[in-house]
Amino acid sequence: MTGEIVVPIGNLIGSPGKERSFSGRQSVSLRLGESTIDGPMSVVGTVHGLPDGVMAEFRALATVHVICTKCLTKWDEEISIAVEQYFGVIPDEDGFGIAEGEIDVSLPARAELALALPAAPVCREDCLGLCPTCGTDLNSDPCDGHEDDTDSPFAVLKDLFDS
Ligand SMILES: [Zn+2]
Ligand SMILES: [Zn+2]
Repeated sequence: MTGEIVVPIGNLIGSPGKERSFSGRQSVSLRLGESTIDGPMSVVGTVHGLPDGVMAEFRALATVHVICTKCLTKWDEEISIAVEQYFGVIPDEDGFGIAEGEIDVSLPARAELALALPAAPVCREDCLGLCPTCGTDLNSDPCDGHEDDTDSPFAVLKDLFDS
């Protein structure tokens, strides 16, 4: 499933107002910090004719595996982004251009998805994170804190009384 998502543009160049729809899927691997896409990306959209090229307008969708940077909770998130990319007869500095009557929309789709990944995800705005001493998830289990008495003989007694 890796490779290109190639859309033939037919006679769209020089035909403003004409358009053609397309869709495709590609397996992608992208990673930014604790956000990873490792699976299918789908694209769906239209190519519009312009006097000197074409404009691709589409949405790219993928599932992102996210890890909370504070409490290490993992979850999956759908991201859906809108992409607009011009393709000219002569490739631009990013290499986007029309080649043999076709455009490859997977390149701008991947580039925009990479930009949309959350760099430092948190499961919620007020995530309390993990206790640095015992590693308890403070969101679900408020840690009582750690006194300096853990080495004292009374700590053992305290444990007995607590149980
Ligand atoms: Zn969290
Ligand atoms: Zn603790």
